[in-house]
Amino acid sequence: MESEKRSRLGEFELIDWIRRQAGTANHLLLGIGDDCAVQRQQGGLELLTTTDLLIEEIHFNTAWTSFYWLGRKAAAVNLSDIAAMGGRPESLFLAVGRPGALGDSELQELLSGFLFETQLQGAVLAGGDCCASPGPLFLAVTAQGRIADGQAIYRHGAKGGDAIYVSGSLGDSALALRELQAGRSPEETLAARFHTPTPRVELGQFLAQQRLASAMLDISDGLLGDLGHILQASAVGAELDLARIPLSQPFSRALNQEETLIDLALTGGEDYELLFTSPLLDLAEASQLPLKVTRVGTIQAHPGLWIRGTDGCLYQCRRGAFDHFS
Ligand code: ADP
Ligand code: MG
Repeated sequence: MESEKRSRLGEFELIDWIRRQAGTANHLLLGIGDDCAVQRQQGGLELLTTTDLLIEEIHFNTAWTSFYWLGRKAAAVNLSDIAAMGGRPESLFLAVGRPGALGDSELQELLSGFLFETQLQGAVLAGGDCCASPGPLFLAVTAQGRIADGQAIYRHGAKGGDAIYVSGSLGDSALALRELQAGRSPEETLAARFHTPTPRVELGQFLAQQRLASAMLDISDGLLGDLGHILQASAVGAELDLARIPLSQPFSRALNQEETLIDLALTGGEDYELLFTSPLLDLAEASQLPLKVTRVGTIQAHPGLWIRGTDGCLYQCRRGAFDHFS
C-alpha cells in the first residue's frame, strides 16, 4: 500500500504554475490566463484561440445525454470562450479519443451535433484528430476566432465603481445536473440549459464592438468562482446583491420549495452566461442589447467579495467554487 500521499495543487494553482513556466512571446498579446489566448495579426485583427476537454464521467454521462447533444455541447463550450472575449468564431478543431464500444452511428450523431452548433455560429470544423481510447470517450476541442484590434475584453479591466452584469439566468444547468444525479428527470427547459447550452456569441460581439464592457468572461465554473477570476485579474473587489441574481421561472419555483438552492445559482457551473463589468450603471436602458442582462452588483476598489442578502445583511454562501482537483 502506498503510504506517502502525493501533493496535488488545486486547478488554478496548477494553471498559475504552468503559466510561470511557459513564459511569453512577442506575437502574444495574452497567453495563459484568460478565456482565450490573443495573438496579433495583420490587417487590424487579433486571433483568439481556446481549447477545452470533455471527458466521459467527468463532463458528461452517456446515460443522460444523446450523442447529438454531446456534440453540440462540445462545440458550444468552446464557442462560449470566443464569445467571452467579444470575438467572432471562425474555425473549430475536434480531437476524439474513441473507446472500442463506441459505434459508427454514435460517432456520426456526435459529429452532426458538433457541426450543427458550429455552423449555427457561422464557424467551420477545420481539423482535428481521431484515436482509440483504452478508457472513456474524450473530446478535445480547439476554437479560433477573430476580433478587431484593441476590442478584446479581458478579465483584467474591471475598475472600482463599475457595474457587474450577467446575461440570461443562473443556476439552471446546475439544477438540471442535480436532478439527473438524483435519478430524476429535470424540467425540459432546465435540461436544455445543461445539455445544449447557448454560447452568447452575439452579445459578446455587441459589447466588444460598442466598447461597453471593461472586463468579461463566460460563467463555466459558477458566478462566485468566475467573478473571483475577474476580481483577481483586475485587483479589485465586489459587492453582489442576492436579490438581483437573475433566475428562470423553473429555478424560482424550485427555490420556493428549497431556499438553499440560491447557493446553486451562485456557484453552479456550466451556465455559459456572460459575466461582465461596465462603467455604464444602467446598461440595459442605455443600449439596444441583443439579450437580457441584469445588474447584480458593483465593483469595489478594495479586494474582497461581499454578498448582500435579501434581508440586507451579509450573506454567507455554503458552497465552494468548482475545482477539478479539489
Ligand atoms: P475557461 O474556464 O475559460 O475555459 P480555464 O479555467 O480552463 O478557462 O483556464 C484558464 C486559463 O488557463 C486559460 O487561459 C487556459 O488556456 C489556461 N490553461 C488551463 N490549463 C492549461 C494547461 N494545461 N496548459 C496551459 N494553459 C492552461
Ligand atoms: Mg471561459
